[in-house]
Amino acid sequence: MKKVLLITTVLVLLKLTLTAQSTYVFKELPYPYSALEPYIDSTTMEIHYDKHHRAYYTNFVKGMQDGNFEQVAIENVMKGISKYPASIRNMGGGYWNHEFFWNCMSPKKTQADPELTNAIAKQFGSVENFKKEFSSAAATVFGSGWAWLILSESGELKIVKTANQDNPLMDISTEKGTPLLAIDVWEHAYYLKHKNKRAAYVEDFWNVINWKFVSDTYKAAKK
Ligand code: MN
Repeated sequence: MKKVLLITTVLVLLKLTLTAQSTYVFKELPYPYSALEPYIDSTTMEIHYDKHHRAYYTNFVKGMQDGNFEQVAIENVMKGISKYPASIRNMGGGYWNHEFFWNCMSPKKTQADPELTNAIAKQFGSVENFKKEFSSAAATVFGSGWAWLILSESGELKIVKTANQDNPLMDISTEKGTPLLAIDVWEHAYYLKHKNKRAAYVEDFWNVINWKFVSDTYKAAKK
């Protein structure tokens, strides 16, 4: 009888573990650490992914378990973030933002779909002007945070900034929308290579943007 109880307990624990793991996944980086050289250096990528991103993920999963929160999709946690403690906002934001950020970059040269290029030109005057405005937003995030291109709730392309690990999916965000492109401007994203020169890092970022991902995300967001 004791044996049956033990086996049942083990199975229940195993199921709990598997459930928790399958809801929130620490995905592999879509390319090797060195793939974005010389624009983003290998050491920065390794520390950023394996230390910073992993810590956000681990602490988020722990926070969800400790708080006995329902294991809903991370996007839904973001959209209802006002109902969670600040630690979930910080760690969950860090987890979601970084996974999105890795996808925004690629070692392959990619081009934006004409549909996105036209929408950008229409909204910002020209692609060149969009680049200027996005770079300026990234340069002027005070302290640690992010700059984003989003499709706003009213269907407009907008450049927005968020502090810390907040993002435009969050219900507490002043400008909400679907993120299409993001740049991490925390110092940990560039300090080893670019030192205090954030503008130089932002300039390098333009060489590694995955425009295919941005275009696909735009298409999906418009549906
Ligand atoms: Mn980061």
